[in-house]
Amino acid sequence: MPSARSTTESSVGDAPPTCAIIAIGRELLLGRTLDTNSHWLAGQLTMLGGKLERISVIDDQAATIIAELQAAWRRRTRFLFMTGGLGPTYDDATLIAVARAARRPLELNPEAFEHVRARYRHLHATGLLRSGRLTAPRKKMAIVPRGGVILANPVGTAPGVHLTRRGSHLFCLPGVPAELRAIFTESVLPLLRALLGAHAYHEAELDSGCNDETVLSGLIEPLRRRYPDIHLKTDATGFEAGGRLRIFLTAHGRDAATLRLRIGAARHNLLQALRRAGYAAAR
Ligand code: AMP
Ligand code: MG
Repeated sequence: MPSARSTTESSVGDAPPTCAIIAIGRELLLGRTLDTNSHWLAGQLTMLGGKLERISVIDDQAATIIAELQAAWRRRTRFLFMTGGLGPTYDDATLIAVARAARRPLELNPEAFEHVRARYRHLHATGLLRSGRLTAPRKKMAIVPRGGVILANPVGTAPGVHLTRRGSHLFCLPGVPAELRAIFTESVLPLLRALLGAHAYHEAELDSGCNDETVLSGLIEPLRRRYPDIHLKTDATGFEAGGRLRIFLTAHGRDAATLRLRIGAARHNLLQALRRAGYAAAR
């Protein structure tokens, strides 16, 4: 992570839009696959000014997915991201679950069908696959809930799907990290920028010059009260000699310039408090 990140938007808006990620796949729960998709998406959403409220990692059973989705809709999460389960096999149940949860029929989407057809024709023509025929498992990847908008997959087969429901946006993305990133960057990001435009995020960090989190806790407390909108977090490590804990200051807000100033002021106050307490905090 870079030492300081922030959005560049300068804007006015309401509270930060809420986001949630639902990572789907038995392999994640078995400890076989690390959920790097959520980590990557979390960074992207934060930088866009979205407030990520929750990351869930769940099994690929339709009933489990439905329950998780309905809970997110009940919480009125504005932007929901699902990863995994869009492929051709029986365990790829994401869109079946979405259709049931949203009470929408599943139907063959012509655009998705064309994409899948072209993809298999190409894979066959280049000799990578024995057949380019559109079998049922291949067709499955083009069957989406009614009203779902197809998000083109430039590097794989299964397209993503964007579905809106009662003011909430749901993005279903593939589990393969390269595919997820490509679809997000090419199709989801421009849309989110337009929808989320009026929100900003800023963060700064500080090298405290102190290796004792219990001491930092006492120094941070007055600042937490003074700047309730800023989240202050120490980066815990061991007690190795010369260890210097870093402190992160993060905030969401309406205006990037105001956020930068406010975090700058809080950081300055913290720096002074650390020095008064005898720690060689780095400027
Ligand atoms: P799926 O789209 O669910 O069939 O997933 C395809 C492949 O993507 C899996 O076999 C995993 O290797 C990988 N994958 C799925 N979910 C994730 C995730 N959350 N983070 C990283 N890799 C994943
Ligand atoms: Mg899967």
